[in-house]
Amino acid sequence: MEKEFDLETLAVRAGYNQTEEQENSEAIFPTSSFRYNSAQQAADRFSGAEKGNVYSRFSNPTVRAFENRLAALEGGDECVATASGMSAILSTFMSLCESGDHVISSSSIFGTTKVLFNKYLKKFGLEVTFVSQTDIGEWEKAVKPNTKAFFLESPSNPLTQIADIAALSTLAKRSGAILIVDNCFCTPILQQPLALGADIIIHSATKFLDGQGRGIGGAVVGSKALVGEEVRGFLRTAGPSMSPFNAWIFLKGLETLSVRMEAHCQRAMTLAVWLDEHPAVEKVFYPGLKSHPQYDLAQKQQKAAGGLVTFRVKGGRAEAWSVIDNTKMISITANLGDVKTSITHPATTTHCRVPEDERLATGITDNLLRISVGLESIEDLKADLARGLDKLV
Ligand SMILES: *Cc1c(COP(=O)(O)O)cnc(C)c1O
Repeated sequence: MEKEFDLETLAVRAGYNQTEEQENSEAIFPTSSFRYNSAQQAADRFSGAEKGNVYSRFSNPTVRAFENRLAALEGGDECVATASGMSAILSTFMSLCESGDHVISSSSIFGTTKVLFNKYLKKFGLEVTFVSQTDIGEWEKAVKPNTKAFFLESPSNPLTQIADIAALSTLAKRSGAILIVDNCFCTPILQQPLALGADIIIHSATKFLDGQGRGIGGAVVGSKALVGEEVRGFLRTAGPSMSPFNAWIFLKGLETLSVRMEAHCQRAMTLAVWLDEHPAVEKVFYPGLKSHPQYDLAQKQQKAAGGLVTFRVKGGRAEAWSVIDNTKMISITANLGDVKTSITHPATTTHCRVPEDERLATGITDNLLRISVGLESIEDLKADLARGLDKLV
């Protein structure tokens, strides 16, 4: 189906085999196990001699439909769905790396991923060097003989820095390392890292893939060898699996992904321009603004600039908090990628566990606010933010 249809069509139709009931909307299979016609068939399924379902920790029709559809959208051979975005990252490193391996990661990654590296994977002998999201020279200098993987997110959260995925893929290949990209913020609608040379894609399905904040889930996409064999082998054994019900939510979420992303990006662009002109705003971080340091790269690498807008208000934490507390409609929550717009103070929420000096060095100052722009009216969004911002001038 992948070669024949465009991305928008794949998002609506790829990956599902209709049952004999001829349902038009995909069915949910909430079952832990599957039955066999005979002892022989049971033996054949367990040995792998016959293809088919065995046990929902590693094979379920609803989960498979979500996996097939996301693989089609990312242009990957295989996708493995996981219980959360974090377990997608854990499963990838547990299956592809071993004690003594070295990983180079952008320092501008999701805070919890940093904790996973620094606190847990380190205990198993994985060494991680953090480098600048945007300075390829730093990545090059960090390469060692035992470097196994490069890891990044682009755009970064919350400062929307853009990594040059194609250039880092070239460096990774030259260094004998694989490139792992967390594509949570762009989704395959805006950016397809495999086509830019990445080897593995990570998703938190919790965010834009669902799009309505209903469940926790994740996914890993890549080749048959790396994902189909290695990552699936880990999932099968260790069990951070996605439930059929959540898979169904995400599968239906994918159907509206392209129109949602387009609408998120349009509103985010309008809001970024408006914030940029507001006298109480010190600086706006949005890859769609010409003032963004990687504006040209974002134009080349992404179809649109994304749904997250970050900005600094004039003042400090008190001023930033007063913008949050003067909203009436926008959700005060750290979640993102939802049709409901959310506002977050990264320094005291998503990045509160990052030591202060490190947090400030990476630009997450006390006057910084992050907005995940939803699908409400842009005029209502501006009015809700203006209530607090206007008081600061
Ligand atoms: C939220 C998030 C994750 C973790 O996903 P969960 O589904 O919450 O486990 C990983 N990476 C990025 C970029 C995220 O925003």
